[in-house]
Amino acid sequence: MPTDPYSPFELTLLIYKAIEHGVNIVFVNPRYTSQTCHNCHHIHPIVGESYRHGKKFACGHCGWIGDADYNGAKNIFALGVSVNTPKGSGLSCLLEDHLRAIESPHHNCTQLGGG
Ligand SMILES: [Zn+2]
Repeated sequence: MPTDPYSPFELTLLIYKAIEHGVNIVFVNPRYTSQTCHNCHHIHPIVGESYRHGKKFACGHCGWIGDADYNGAKNIFALGVSVNTPKGSGLSCLLEDHLRAIESPHHNCTQLGGG
């Protein structure tokens, strides 16, 4: 995961190279991938707070501690590989529930248990 986003030229070059080598490209929405724990899929329950502090991620739910970019990359990977699976990663359902909870405080998570 680069520190700076790819320029349009670099992204185009990356896409051409992937096609040239027969590599599938999957675009995922990165929303909340840096705030979600890849280990337990938990997001800080307080809006505006995060388990990410600079380069460090310390989950207050499962206790996983590590590099924040590694954590975000694992979440993006989980979203990417779930595109072609019927059940999905479960992560996107949790993220959608989190967004609904922000927009509607009385929303209850009913799609997935645990986490
Ligand atoms: Zn966790």
